[in-house]
Amino acid sequence: MGKITDILKTMDYGPSPEASDAVRGWLAAHKDGYGHFIGGAFTAAGELFDVHDPSTGDAIARVTQGKAADVDAAVSAARAAQPGWAALPGHERARYLHALARLTQKRERFLAVLESLDNGKPIRETRDIDVPLVARHFYHHAGWATLIGSEFPGARPVGVCGQIVPWNFPLLMLAWKVAPALACGNTVVLKPAEYTPLTALAFAEICVEAGLPPGVVNIVTGDGETGAALAAHKGVDKVAFTGSTEVGRLIRRATAGTGKRLSLELGGKSPFIVFDDADLDSAVEGVVDGIFFNQGQVCCAGSRLLVGESVEARFVAKLKARMGGLTVGAPLDKSTDIGAIVAPEQLQRIERLVEAGRAEGAEIFQAGTVPARGSFFPPTLACRVEPANILAREEVFGPVLAVMSFRTPDEAVTLANNTRYGLAASVWSENLNRANEVASRLKAGVVWINSTNLFDAGAAFGGYRESGFGREGGREGLAEYLVLSELPRVAAAPAKAAALSAAPGPAPAAPGIDRTPKMYIGGKQARPDGGASYAVLDAQGRAVGQAGLGGRKDIRNAVEAASKATGWAGASAHNRAQVLYYVAENLAARAPEFAARLRAMTGEDGEAEVEAAVRRLFFYAGFADKYDGAVRPTQKKFVTLAMNEPFGVMGLVCPDEAPLLALVSLAAPAIAMGNAVVVVPSAAHPLAATDFYSVLDTSDLPGGVVNIVTGEADALALTLAEHDGVDALWRAGPKPAEKKLEEASAGNLKSTWMLGEGVDWGRAEGREFLRRACQIKTIWTPYGE
Ligand code: NDP
Repeated sequence: MGKITDILKTMDYGPSPEASDAVRGWLAAHKDGYGHFIGGAFTAAGELFDVHDPSTGDAIARVTQGKAADVDAAVSAARAAQPGWAALPGHERARYLHALARLTQKRERFLAVLESLDNGKPIRETRDIDVPLVARHFYHHAGWATLIGSEFPGARPVGVCGQIVPWNFPLLMLAWKVAPALACGNTVVLKPAEYTPLTALAFAEICVEAGLPPGVVNIVTGDGETGAALAAHKGVDKVAFTGSTEVGRLIRRATAGTGKRLSLELGGKSPFIVFDDADLDSAVEGVVDGIFFNQGQVCCAGSRLLVGESVEARFVAKLKARMGGLTVGAPLDKSTDIGAIVAPEQLQRIERLVEAGRAEGAEIFQAGTVPARGSFFPPTLACRVEPANILAREEVFGPVLAVMSFRTPDEAVTLANNTRYGLAASVWSENLNRANEVASRLKAGVVWINSTNLFDAGAAFGGYRESGFGREGGREGLAEYLVLSELPRVAAAPAKAAALSAAPGPAPAAPGIDRTPKMYIGGKQARPDGGASYAVLDAQGRAVGQAGLGGRKDIRNAVEAASKATGWAGASAHNRAQVLYYVAENLAARAPEFAARLRAMTGEDGEAEVEAAVRRLFFYAGFADKYDGAVRPTQKKFVTLAMNEPFGVMGLVCPDEAPLLALVSLAAPAIAMGNAVVVVPSAAHPLAATDFYSVLDTSDLPGGVVNIVTGEADALALTLAEHDGVDALWRAGPKPAEKKLEEASAGNLKSTWMLGEGVDWGRAEGREFLRRACQIKTIWTPYGE
């Protein structure tokens, strides 16, 4: 022990290692290798791969590489267990979840040490953040298990869930996925990451200890191929994935057209915005937490610092000084701030990206020293970074912060949103009006005001744009694991429409003045770019009119017009309701004309359809200011808002049946929530839609909020699915086209809803339409000093 006077010279902490005997004993007991956990028991070890301690590079365990047959066996076990698990009274399921929470707490130190050894993250984080949050997640969802029946009446579990988790928060991501799935009555097959499978295997033992019925939780270890086999397995009803955007895209394509539920929590490049009126010292601590927590291997890491120009120099100087005080070293040492990078390949990736950033002009500042052995990277600032620099664009997944400055709040928002991602953001200002205004304009699923990296089981977490879709946590997270309501269907499938032709067609059913309705783009009538139209036929094959044969260019124009109609989302909900009422009034005033048109095209009772469309407009006008958000009880001294935000631009592809009512049923909830839409009406019966725009024209609907492009519905839908400016796509129609559309949607990872065919449009209305027209933004605001 040195003298106190010596210690005072540097104020360095001495080593303070956490004991790891219990964990090393557990690893030694399994030195012959771990098998999978299937049907409530461990299988014999198979073909093994090594798992390493990233801080030393030493192999610490051997784990089985999962094959297709293992995935099969696990899915079968989960399938066999699911009905019994779902049939348990909620309270019984709650007891198991409660036991999992309690046992996690009883094994808290064991799990924390194991996680640090396996992943390289500091014991202070696993002990104080990861494992307590795991227990919180199981407790929270034990509560939900009891309440699902009363809080989600009529809902049912999805079935068997395939869950794939990454290596950055191995046990925490397991809890985020397993707890809600089980609470809702689903069973799971989970694949942990190849680098970090050990806490999942320890959790399997906890499941045994809790007496969980066999097959409710199954764990198959392995690499990406095992994950791919799980995601593609026919026996899986839902896939939940956290990981890279690249693999998220592969999974989107692999599940396209299968009807599997999918939630994706992907990468990020989150902005950390510091205004000149921020409490700079607190913001410096925020940065440390935002980018150096978990070595920066955090999907929502605040990896782009945007700082007000007038305080940039002062802030960066403070930050550099603070970085000098961070200790990089042994994960099991309680005084370590920054542990090891998970694997040499990840370390090399970080090194490559930093060198590329330097080559593109970034000034690199690094603080402190790193141990000679193991995978370590020092805390790093990349200053004077241009927005085009690779470090400002790419997810580094390391302790690397790109620094940029801004002059005005508008510029801060523009820079912040200048990314293909949209997972999280952090805003620092002592002016709450400004902070809230900026939070509302950020394209991100989570916004922390004067705080960062806060998580809670009761608050939704998930991204916009290429950060994925779906939410984890809270009420919204549960919705991912439940079938909330089934769409009402009619038994008979509608007749298939013939292919459209621009060639001269049959004679008109009733002679009159030749009139070809145009399309409707940006609030104006527009001719199709190709200049072609097609004959619209009645049930007897006689021409009842013509419609424009729209193409790719028309869709592009319509999307552009929709993306400019941003004022609509900012209008008050009351105002949006007023416009919808006005549309309903004007439609009602012209009911006989619309009824005649419908009857001419479809031969069905047009009057009933117009009346139903008017009612539907009233329904969503009524809901426009009532489908509200919530305040979630999370951590003390925080108000945590769950805000329903519109997606932005939605593509709506209508079926052939009920051509007016289906269009209104899709468009009204979407615009009630503040979206702008591009509608592809029924190709066979488009004239109800082209008549409808004249109603919109006289109803104070701002130009660009509803755009209508007529033509070959499947081809136009595909263009919408491929378009990066479309944020969500709904499509009602025959199933065969769904696969192609969902595959095409993987480009910008837009949210999709395939409603299928035979929807009973007379009854197809309700909250589910509103829920699917929004994405939740979670905003955390602290209060108190
Ligand atoms: P991946 O996306 O490859 O891994 C996430 C999980 O998916 C792992 O369990 C992985 O298995 C599995 N997986 C890999 N390929 C497939 C596939 N084709 N089908 C199904 N599952 C698959 O991330 P990486 O580990 O490769 O990390 C690469 C980069 O991804 C990081 O540098 C970071 O930028 C980003 N990332 C983002 C995360 C986030 O939370 N948003 C988390 C992790 C990484 P296995 O580990 O065995 O390969």
